[in-house]
Amino acid sequence: MDLAHWLGRAVEQHEKWQDGHGPGPGHPALDVAEADLSAAFDALAERLGGSYPFFHPRYAGQMLKPPHPVAVTGYLAAMLVNPNNHARDGGPTSSALEEEVVEELAAMFGYGEHLGHLTSSGTLGNLEALFVARESHPGKGVAFSAESHYTHARMCHLLGIEAYTVPVDARGRMDVDALERLLSTGAVGTVVATMGTTGLGAVDPLHRILERTRPAGVRVHADAAYGGFFTLLAQPEQGPGQTPGRPPGRGTAAGRALVDPAPWRALPSCDSVVVDPHKHGLQPYGCGAVLFRDPEVRRFYGHDSPYTYFTSARPHLGEISLECSRSGAAAAALWLTLRLFPLTREGLGRVLAPGRRAALRWAGLIEASPRLDLYQPPDLDIVTYHRHGAPPVLSGVAAASEEMMREGMRDGDDAVFLSTSRVSAAAFTARRPDAVADAEETRILRSVLMKPEAEPYLDRLHARVEALAADSLGAATAGAAAGEARRG
Ligand SMILES: *Cc1c(COP(=O)(O)O)cnc(C)c1O
Repeated sequence: MDLAHWLGRAVEQHEKWQDGHGPGPGHPALDVAEADLSAAFDALAERLGGSYPFFHPRYAGQMLKPPHPVAVTGYLAAMLVNPNNHARDGGPTSSALEEEVVEELAAMFGYGEHLGHLTSSGTLGNLEALFVARESHPGKGVAFSAESHYTHARMCHLLGIEAYTVPVDARGRMDVDALERLLSTGAVGTVVATMGTTGLGAVDPLHRILERTRPAGVRVHADAAYGGFFTLLAQPEQGPGQTPGRPPGRGTAAGRALVDPAPWRALPSCDSVVVDPHKHGLQPYGCGAVLFRDPEVRRFYGHDSPYTYFTSARPHLGEISLECSRSGAAAAALWLTLRLFPLTREGLGRVLAPGRRAALRWAGLIEASPRLDLYQPPDLDIVTYHRHGAPPVLSGVAAASEEMMREGMRDGDDAVFLSTSRVSAAAFTARRPDAVADAEETRILRSVLMKPEAEPYLDRLHARVEALAADSLGAATAGAAAGEARRG
């Protein structure tokens, strides 16, 4: 798609809309000299030139990618008006767009009647979910796994809620037996299940968690900020020529879900869920969402504002949100995106599937490689690995990861951008009992394959990472030999 054309269309329609209100008088106070702008813009452009190439599949590091040009077009078209979705009088049309996209998100998660809204981020969505958790289960604590997002502990502190950390198993998923023991104390009112941890992309066994929480009357909040849209891949793929609704024939690629469907099928039973369209929903930053299964939680938000709320008797988004001002353009961007990538397996699911397939295939290539070891099989599209070791020595693994990341970024056309992740000696040895734990922690490599372009690029990426591992092994051996020589 031709972004320059569509940005032009957005500006055109905006000017047409403005003209409909008569010519604006303008004011010289807002004038700028073209030459000044040109100089300032050049300075900005130069600064931006120092960015990492998040758009390119050679960038296989953190959770970052540009928004889809459709989202950029929708954002710009609405941003020129600059509606505020805090209240309907601040954004009558973009508030309606937000309500529509929230309906679509709720349908994706299997929610019927619900309450929900967009947020500026996943963190603020989670804050609201924990706020409602506190109000509905006063005096009780919140439990989340040791691999959950670090902001849960911070938000519990902010809300004055007791926080309980539940250990994880050797795949980074919540240990359900440990959770059960914690629940038996009666101290916990809400459990946070992470549907795709930020570090490993591990999916907590939500279906098994719900079996333990239900009899105890404990709430469950699903933090699906990263993983939420993978629920689309839990649905079997329609093969070519397959009749919708009919089970596919045996041995066909169609009909297989790309992720383990069991935890995702349990999502409709959660009390609340958070998803970040600014992660896997093709949106620019500033777009999270929180949804509650029980619309009655609205009562916890009660407040009154003297200077807004004059145009409608229906509840305003600001009346069911802890934030005040919020970008209406974010709602418009998501709305336009979902017209082209609806929340179905064939819609947005087709954008997530290649990254997931690439992660699965890469895990296999790493396992077969004499130079690399897989840290753990990926639940989603995040691949974790380190330089091969027989046995792996924690200090050496950390040094190799740092070096491979640093060296990878160097050479222009052949550059790869990786990221590292800190793991404890206990976590590492849970996966590799043979490891030499000569340090308290180590660093592994972590690649988030969240762009579909990762799939066609995978062989090149793998070859490059293998070469980096070989180089780092060479450097390590040379370093050891030099040390020996000095000692000898
Ligand atoms: C990214 C993330 C968050 C935080 O969301 P922001 O949008 O960055 O504030 C919370 N939980 C999980 C699992 C995440 O991946």
